[in-house]
Amino acid sequence: MRLSVSADDRFGLHNLPYGVYRVAGSSPRVATRVGEHVVDLALLLGDEVFAQPSLNAFMAQGPSRWASVREALADALAGDVDPAAVHRLADVRLEMPFEVADYVDFYASEHHASNLGRLFRPEAPDPLTPNWKHLPIGYHGRSASIVVSGTDVVRPCGQRLPPGESAPVFGPSVRLDLEAELGFVVGTGSSIGEVIAVDEAEEHLFGVVLFNDWSARDIQAWEYVPLGPFLGKSFASTASPWVVPMAALEGARVPVPAQEPGPLPYLEMERPWGLDIALEVVINGEVVSCPPYAATYWSPAQMLAHLTVNGAPTRTGDLFASGTVSGPDAAQQGSLIELTRGGTEPIVVGGEKRGFLEDGDEVVLRGEARLADGRRVGFGEARGRILPARELVVDTEVE
Ligand code: CA
Repeated sequence: MRLSVSADDRFGLHNLPYGVYRVAGSSPRVATRVGEHVVDLALLLGDEVFAQPSLNAFMAQGPSRWASVREALADALAGDVDPAAVHRLADVRLEMPFEVADYVDFYASEHHASNLGRLFRPEAPDPLTPNWKHLPIGYHGRSASIVVSGTDVVRPCGQRLPPGESAPVFGPSVRLDLEAELGFVVGTGSSIGEVIAVDEAEEHLFGVVLFNDWSARDIQAWEYVPLGPFLGKSFASTASPWVVPMAALEGARVPVPAQEPGPLPYLEMERPWGLDIALEVVINGEVVSCPPYAATYWSPAQMLAHLTVNGAPTRTGDLFASGTVSGPDAAQQGSLIELTRGGTEPIVVGGEKRGFLEDGDEVVLRGEARLADGRRVGFGEARGRILPARELVVDTEVE
């Protein structure tokens, strides 16, 4: 059969993302998406590396294999395709596309960091901390709680310090937030002691996903001094099911904003590139924000170089997220804590006021890259609904 796809489709032959799908009664396998179809790659290309429930084995094969497979895919899909390899998107379930190895979350948007600085440290003369323009700030998170789009998210419980109180209480978070981010997937890692230089990053970077880093702001605020985010972040993050290859995003490269002061030599690039990716944050069906990834200060190559500059190893399946993407305008902020000024100025969604997320709320992150030639590359979506907290019974009686 011939797969027809219109020239302006976000999932045309210029995209060819990688995902993992499952149909009833069979095990998960690697696929690509063309328009509204999902195509099984092991059947299409006769290559057993794709008859697996994750992309990791293929990603580990390295950049020359990624390039030759992408070429083979484009050729195969332009011709006659075995109907047995083709499913309608609506008929399959999409799974987490890769096994996440280690996970790091950065803080690379100057607008986001400034907005939070003004909220958390209103007395400080500079909303940015003194280190911010010298290094991409990040922390190591929890890979096991990264889930694929469509997975429900249970409201976390934890400690928080109610306003005006001197002792913490325990219970469900009352300031549950979203964070609109991109996640960068490492295809081939580096050994301990090895540094990935900024100009070597492209040999390691496999692709990009949308990423919602759910955040419990009250738990975070009480726990984060002095060691940074912990349980306020580690309960769940949602990734989109399609990994868009770096090769599909070459036409979306744009210079990052001017970096002043210039970074130290190991972070210096002649032309640091970001990506022109437009994000959308949708709550209960209503678009509440449109964060532009292109406004992000630190580039993906700089983040990876910084992550390894101390000799820390990386592995196939490592994921590093950009941090919340926010633009200069109010309608471009990628989290509720920014959009509502810490909950003090609720936004209206579907006729209801929202400072933070309520049980039953559904958040969808959407995104597409804008190529220089006018075409668009779709990412799909990262979707998640908030379920009520689970009651935690703590028996404090001494027998
Ligand atoms: Ca984050």
